[in-house]
Amino acid sequence: NSAVQYVPYRGALRPRSALRLVRQYDIVADCSDNVPTRYLVSDACVLAGKPLVSGSALRLEGQLAVYNYRGGPCYRCLFPRPPPPDTVTNCADGGVLGAVTGIIGCLQALEVLKIASGMGSSFSGYMLMFDALEGRFRNIKLRPRRADCAVCGDSPSVTCLQDYEAFCGSCATDKCRALQLLPGADRVSVQQYKALLDARVPHVLLDVRPQVEAEICRLPHALHVPLRCLQDRDHESLQRLQKRICEEKQRTDDQTPLPVYVVCKLGNDSQKAVKILQELPAEEIGSVVAKDIRGGLMAWATKIDSTFPQY
Ligand SMILES: [Zn+2]
Repeated sequence: NSAVQYVPYRGALRPRSALRLVRQYDIVADCSDNVPTRYLVSDACVLAGKPLVSGSALRLEGQLAVYNYRGGPCYRCLFPRPPPPDTVTNCADGGVLGAVTGIIGCLQALEVLKIASGMGSSFSGYMLMFDALEGRFRNIKLRPRRADCAVCGDSPSVTCLQDYEAFCGSCATDKCRALQLLPGADRVSVQQYKALLDARVPHVLLDVRPQVEAEICRLPHALHVPLRCLQDRDHESLQRLQKRICEEKQRTDDQTPLPVYVVCKLGNDSQKAVKILQELPAEEIGSVVAKDIRGGLMAWATKIDSTFPQY
C-alpha cells in the first residue's frame, strides 16, 4: 500500500504526552515490553475512547486481545492491580523468539485492519493465546467489562493519566530493571567475587539460569540448578547442591558456614534464589551463607572477562 504514511515518535511514551498522541489516531496497537506502559496505553485509550489492539510475547508464547472496543473490557478490567514487580519476567530476562513476535504482530495488524474497515474485531472480550512450542492457538473468553473498573467503570476514579511507574513499582522499560530484593550485605560485586576466586576461598558458585541459557555459556566451576527447580524444592536438585556443598566443606576444617554465591544473567533471579536458600532448613543443604552476585554474568562479561559471551 503506497499510501501508507509512517510517523515515528522517538522517545518513551509518557503520561504527560500520551493522551495528546492517542487522540490523533483512531486505533492504537500496544507492542510495548513493560507493565507500566501497558497500563498507560490502556488508560489513555479509555480516556480518549479508542480501541486498543494489544499484543505481547515472551519466550515461545504470545497473546493477543482487543480492549475498550464496542463495550468490551479494558486492560484494567482484567488486571485491576499490577503484578508484584519481582514476579514479572520481561524479554530482556526471559528472551523471546523473533518469529513469535512476528506472528503476534501480524495478527495485531490484521485486527487493526478489520477494525479500520468496519469488519469488527474477533478479539473484543477474547484473548488469543499462541503456544509456539506446541504449535497451538487457543481463544479464551475474557471477563466482561467491570462496572467497578477504575478507569472504564460506571464511576471511574482514574480520570487523568497517572504515574504508572509508581503504580506498578517498576520502570517503564525492560532494560534497566534491577530488582532490589536483598540487603546490600547479602550481595557482592563481580570484582569482589573475582578476588575471592583468585584467593581460592572455599565456596560454591550456583548458577540459577534456565537450562537453555546455561547451554549458551557458563563459568566452568559453577554448579547449575535452574531457579525453577529451587522454587519447586526439587529433591534431586537440592541433593546435587548438598553434595557439592559437602565436598567443598571437606576442603575447610573450620565450622563456619560455607559461602554459596548465586549467579544468573542480570542479578535478578539470583536474588530470588538467595531468598529461597536462606529459607531452606539447615538439614536440607547444610550450614551456608548465600549471597548474590550483582549484575550477574553480564556484569562478569563487561567488567571481568571480555571473552565471556554476552547474549
Ligand atoms: Zn476497564
